[in-house]
Amino acid sequence: MKNVWEEALFNLSKAAEAMDLEPEILERLSVPMRFTEFTIPVRMDNGARKLFLAFRSCHQDATGPTKDGTRVRSGLTPEEIKALSLFMSIKHGVAGIPAGGGKGGIRADPSALSEGEYERLIRGFIRRLNPKGAFTDIPGADIGTGKQAMAWMLDEYEQMTGMHCPAAINDKPAELGGSLGGFEATGWGVAACTGKAAEEMNLEPGRTPVVIQGFGQVGSVAAKKLSSMGFPVTAVSDIAGAVENPGGLDIGGLAAHVERTGSVAGFPGGRNADKGRILEIPCGILIPAAVQDVITAENALRIQAKVIVEAANAPVSPEADDMLASAGIRVIPDVVANSGGAIVCDFERIQGLSNDYWSLDKVEERLNGRILTAYREAAERAAERKVSMRRGAWINAMGKIRAAMLLRGWC
Ligand code: NAD
Repeated sequence: MKNVWEEALFNLSKAAEAMDLEPEILERLSVPMRFTEFTIPVRMDNGARKLFLAFRSCHQDATGPTKDGTRVRSGLTPEEIKALSLFMSIKHGVAGIPAGGGKGGIRADPSALSEGEYERLIRGFIRRLNPKGAFTDIPGADIGTGKQAMAWMLDEYEQMTGMHCPAAINDKPAELGGSLGGFEATGWGVAACTGKAAEEMNLEPGRTPVVIQGFGQVGSVAAKKLSSMGFPVTAVSDIAGAVENPGGLDIGGLAAHVERTGSVAGFPGGRNADKGRILEIPCGILIPAAVQDVITAENALRIQAKVIVEAANAPVSPEADDMLASAGIRVIPDVVANSGGAIVCDFERIQGLSNDYWSLDKVEERLNGRILTAYREAAERAAERKVSMRRGAWINAMGKIRAAMLLRGWC
């Protein structure tokens, strides 16, 4: 694969082929509905003005207003933003979220900016982004943006419009109308999908070791939830090291150790392991929760798990996908397994529009219901077409977008 945009088009065309999608609809889905590139002039602390390049891609809005994150990093490319907007269309379709796919970003290194420069950049982004709003295009957070950035975006938006409208911006702090459970959402969704896959494959929690690569927001929350569901989490890695305990790691103790030291390495409740080999440890369930492309043609045949749950985006390469299928290893695809964050973002919009804010228990209960429906629908489409669950999930989402486009008379 050359780049993320080509990879997105590859998945799109494979699903289109498997579902006999009309060429006209495939053509519409193969290019964003609207892609804007704009500049943001920012007054730097030394008095000079610097121009930053920004992008926003709205993939399609047949299924609802476009929605999702804002990535700030140096080296950001238009292809990356286009691909991510397409993925969000699919993820929203998979999870039954009435929204199209959106993604935006700014080419800048946040660590090279002072707090004031970063705030002016973020405020400049929302000022210059057009169109925008709760019923049009709703930005959220991504790499390089977090709750504070989204609070500034909301404030700037509301200052411009003269109206309070929490549903116009996602991933806000709870004090400004954000949803509870936003931090936990993706990890909880991964755990729910893992539990479902184990049940379908008759893997008893108490006897099914789980190995997790990555112990950040997603990996640590999933580990904690799975541990509470009775699964022994026997090995965990992060960028700095790995730790294992065949009897099951104490996840609470491990989280406290990471809080203290910054890494899972050296945790006294286990022995240090080779982080380069974490994916090859024999286990029932393997959860890559770090970065993309970690399971490739090079190591796929050394994987000794019964099922892989993709918590990270695209951790399994297309070549490895085929090899794992031949080896009888099931893959629960990213668009299903890590859709918990997108689902709770939708809950955030619903709460903002209705001014009715939910308890953490209600968020979790509704998240579980929504993600398990996404799981079931993807598995059903896969069984009908005799394709992988990844393909089934894409077919499910594309079928919903297709229906919306036809009903609107667009094709
Ligand atoms: P994070 O930055 O909080 O944590 C990443 C973890 O992976 C850290 O423990 C880091 O040390 C580890 N890591 C990084 N490179 C590694 C490597 N080469 N080998 C082993 N460990 C490595 O990130 P996160 O929010 O937990 O996200 C993890 C993945 O899930 C990313 O691919 C992200 O795109 C994806 N994802 C996240 C969300 C979300 O809501 N946070 C939603 C969907 C998808």
